[in-house]
Amino acid sequence: MSATPSVEIAARGAKSPAALEFLKKGPTKLLIGGKWVPAKSGKTFETINPANEEVLALVAEGDKADVDDAVKAARKAFEDNRWAGMSPHARTRYLLKIADLIEAHADELAELESLDNGKPLSQARTIDIPGSARLFQYFAGWASKIYGETNPSDPSMFNYTLREPIGVCGLITPWNFPLMMASQKIAPALACGNTVVLKPAEQTPLTALRLGELIQEAGLPDGVVNIVTGFGPGAGSSISEHPDIDKVSFTGSTEVGKMILQASAGNLKRVSLELGGKSPNVILPDADLEQAVPTAMNGVFFNSGQVCAAGTRIFVQREMYDKFVDQFAKASERMTVGNPLDPKTRLGPLVSREQFERVNNYLNVGQQEGAKIAMGGGATEGKGYFIKPTLFTGVTNRMRIAREEIFGPVAAAIPFKDESDAVFQANDTTYGLAAAVWTRDISRAHKIARALKAGTVWINCYGAGDSSMPFGGYKQSGFGRENGRHALDLFTQIKSVYVKL
Ligand code: ADP
Repeated sequence: MSATPSVEIAARGAKSPAALEFLKKGPTKLLIGGKWVPAKSGKTFETINPANEEVLALVAEGDKADVDDAVKAARKAFEDNRWAGMSPHARTRYLLKIADLIEAHADELAELESLDNGKPLSQARTIDIPGSARLFQYFAGWASKIYGETNPSDPSMFNYTLREPIGVCGLITPWNFPLMMASQKIAPALACGNTVVLKPAEQTPLTALRLGELIQEAGLPDGVVNIVTGFGPGAGSSISEHPDIDKVSFTGSTEVGKMILQASAGNLKRVSLELGGKSPNVILPDADLEQAVPTAMNGVFFNSGQVCAAGTRIFVQREMYDKFVDQFAKASERMTVGNPLDPKTRLGPLVSREQFERVNNYLNVGQQEGAKIAMGGGATEGKGYFIKPTLFTGVTNRMRIAREEIFGPVAAAIPFKDESDAVFQANDTTYGLAAAVWTRDISRAHKIARALKAGTVWINCYGAGDSSMPFGGYKQSGFGRENGRHALDLFTQIKSVYVKL
């Protein structure tokens, strides 16, 4: 049994009375069929504030039995058409209501996100929370625009297609952008008329649970959104294996993505996977370095590097390598690492001890492989899972630090000879989530954008995102595109109807 957490200690410095009240309510519960219930086993687990290593809250540890209940509730809500059978305009209004409630509770949600994940409060408040509201707003509009087609193939027939919801969707989300990743899946699933069972990451379950309360406040019918907190093996695997879940949408590591795909074979559920990356950021000699240096820095260190599309491999032409490294190191050393609640902080801690140890291990691996630490290269003093922004130089694209996803504030600067060498090395990876190129030559920029094998390419910028632009991976970065109208493909299926005239 875990001791009762001390919110005063774990959430020291937090200002939102509503966030503190939420934390003080005691162990969180599961949302199943419109009711908040404890896990059937009665078990709970701790969620930690990674900035001070204190227990923020106890969280219900759902497992197979709870997932079964959640799926039953979602199935009932799907089959009796309480959601899919509603006018799409009504679904739009519900989704807009959820967006409004997220905005109205933005301070509270930002603080919960920052405490649970460790990300700077300023970033949660300006990126994660407004981004989540925007996803609901964006997909709200789609509910009434999910068209079928008529097909003039045979004059004696009237042939048309219907685009229908898939059914019960299992949504498994990661810990790096907890509320945004949940919103990115819930909003399109609901817009298309599905019902859902969400399993947030065990490291950061709090904002998803608060979102569950807001969804209830918005008045959605019971059972349309169910939330089961718990671990990957257990709650997560019960979703991917479940015979009565029709679709799984997963964002997380490539390793777990493969397990999910295998587990889904039992009932051939639809699967979409947004997985890891080792994204190249190619800086050509004619790039505007004044822009490229700070943008490359943010591109790899934002969210302490815990971003699937982080620009971890920075390719720089040999002749300008030293100059770039020097400017990059100087700029990065000015990034404040520290208390996420402090407005000056640019980098918070890593999300968990496990992640902290993993990243520290890669710092050793890189040095053993012969790379040099040009700046950073270790933890900060005191409590919390802080790692200084780190730049490795003398890296080759063959090294593990250039091939494996580290998911921490660790950049690798890799030299290249000429443009074709840069493109070859950029594409020489098992991943293909994102890539960037910097040049003032527009024709060159577009040609390279075509040559890069990645689901997103940035030209003279890094990390831009838009709820209306598709996002997803080439190669082992996954399949399916979230956001934009392509997300509708993930949450609908097509029926062909033949009518004899
Ligand atoms: P990371 O390695 O970045 O922690 P994971 O891929 O392990 O990311 O986790 C992403 C999500 O997948 C989390 O919600 C986690 O609980 C879940 N998960 C982990 N293992 C499994 C599994 N075997 N089956 C289903 N979900 C899992």
